[in-house]
Amino acid sequence: MSTQLHADPDARAFVARHHRMLIGGDWVDAASGKTFDTIDPATGEVLASIPAGDSEDIDRAVKTARAAFENPVWADMHPATRGKLLHKLGDLILEHADELATLDTLDNGKPFAVARAADVPLAADLFHYMAGWATKLNGSTISLSVPYMPDAQFHAYTLREPIGVVGQIIPWNFPLLMAAWKLGPALTTGCTVVLKPAEQTPLSALRLGELILEAGFPEGVVNIVTGLGEEAGAPLAAHPDVDKIAFTGSTEVGKMIVRAAADNLKKVSLELGGKSPNLLFDDADMSQAIPGVANAVFFNQGQVCCAGSRLYVQNSVYDDVLQGMSDVAKGVKVGNGLDPATDMGPLTSQEQFDRVTGYLNIGQSEGARTITGGGRVGDKGYFVEPTILADTDHSMKVVKEEIFGPVIAVAPFKDVDELTRKANDSIYGLASGVWTKDLSKAHRAAKAIKAGTVWVNCFNVFDAALPFGGYKQSGWGREMGAEVLENYLQTKAVTTQI
Ligand code: NAP
Ligand code: MG
Repeated sequence: MSTQLHADPDARAFVARHHRMLIGGDWVDAASGKTFDTIDPATGEVLASIPAGDSEDIDRAVKTARAAFENPVWADMHPATRGKLLHKLGDLILEHADELATLDTLDNGKPFAVARAADVPLAADLFHYMAGWATKLNGSTISLSVPYMPDAQFHAYTLREPIGVVGQIIPWNFPLLMAAWKLGPALTTGCTVVLKPAEQTPLSALRLGELILEAGFPEGVVNIVTGLGEEAGAPLAAHPDVDKIAFTGSTEVGKMIVRAAADNLKKVSLELGGKSPNLLFDDADMSQAIPGVANAVFFNQGQVCCAGSRLYVQNSVYDDVLQGMSDVAKGVKVGNGLDPATDMGPLTSQEQFDRVTGYLNIGQSEGARTITGGGRVGDKGYFVEPTILADTDHSMKVVKEEIFGPVIAVAPFKDVDELTRKANDSIYGLASGVWTKDLSKAHRAAKAIKAGTVWVNCFNVFDAALPFGGYKQSGWGREMGAEVLENYLQTKAVTTQI
């Protein structure tokens, strides 16, 4: 089997290197000299040893980012030049697409074909899209009518200025893409960054750091500190000289970030968990909808914050849909992400494997009917079968809690009122899907659902221009589109009496 595995020589050479973190344009070991291992989830074997940064390294990185923020080389750089650097970075990502995709496959487990077709080009697109914004961050002129100065005239305008030094903490499910989502808007607005990748998947972010220097960003504008959440993430979130923290990950850690940020009232944006409902009406095109709702939860091994993990099916087509989904699930080839035949790779860590298999047991004990899947695949690596749990209801943990694996909870519905109530009965509000040929029904549902994204007759469609983020406990602020710029800008009003 190993002879068939995709093996990019550049990625292999990178993995084998001595890994350091990026602080102020230099590649350095952790001040403590400590390291941790990153694991190949397809085999459970150690891939590489990575510096375990802690508060001392975070402090150095923040000082460097502050100096870079104030350095005229960056602060006074022409916006068009900033845009060109971002554009160059997008180009470099595409030039090294095979290598970066392989690094994410090795570290995260996802199929190489998926990383190469989705993660890497989306990351490049994000930088290309954000490059265009650098020259368009304009304020406005404002007409004043000050009641107690009736005779005075003013010239008033706003400036949109970068917030300053930004801490960014990212998860392991889309390692390169999450780094891009965070870095792109911070850099186009002129902020400087300390980025902490997830401990499970640091490799592509470190390679990206090299490409950032190659693109020509001044030293200290981007710093990358690897390390564990409690040791490196927590001091970054609490640091008194960080002006803003942007976090993607669990809702639980998101709440810790908010508390840590309170001391200096740093600005916070959060992209958190979800339990996104898919609404399947009996008038949908089933040839599109059945694979659609299945892939909505199986994509990326289900390790997607917006995974369509709750499915509500109109009762007249309930049995047919379950049968169709079961056929799709049985056709999913689970295996090493480096094997070109693989549709679904392993979960990313032992912890994830334990969590997801734990929920499979919980689902059984709660009385959900397992239509297909329900167990592990093989005896090595963190592989889990695509799993369909039918006849679920809202008293069950498998309906209420985010599983973050290839597990879907399915239930029938009778009418639209019941459906809307169920769809919105969640602490989360990240995304949702509606499947119907009736446009009016689709748009009525789109209005009724409390979620930051509604996909109609599609799912998991992402574009750098589309804002993405959560209602309720799924987050604060938006990623991508024009809206993400607000996370990194502040507005100054300048008023002159003339
Ligand atoms: P997580 O614990 O929230 O981790 C996300 C990031 O936060 C990682 O970089 C992590 O570092 C860091 N972190 C952990 N504890 C921290 C702390 N006390 N202070 C500051 N940073 C901290 O997520 P996870 O455990 O990897 O995944 C579990 C759950 O997170 C999933 O089930 C899902 O709910 C959610 N999740 C959501 C997304 C999303 O895209 N919205 C992505 C991944 C996970 P370390 O990795 O080094 O601990
Ligand atoms: Mg790993």
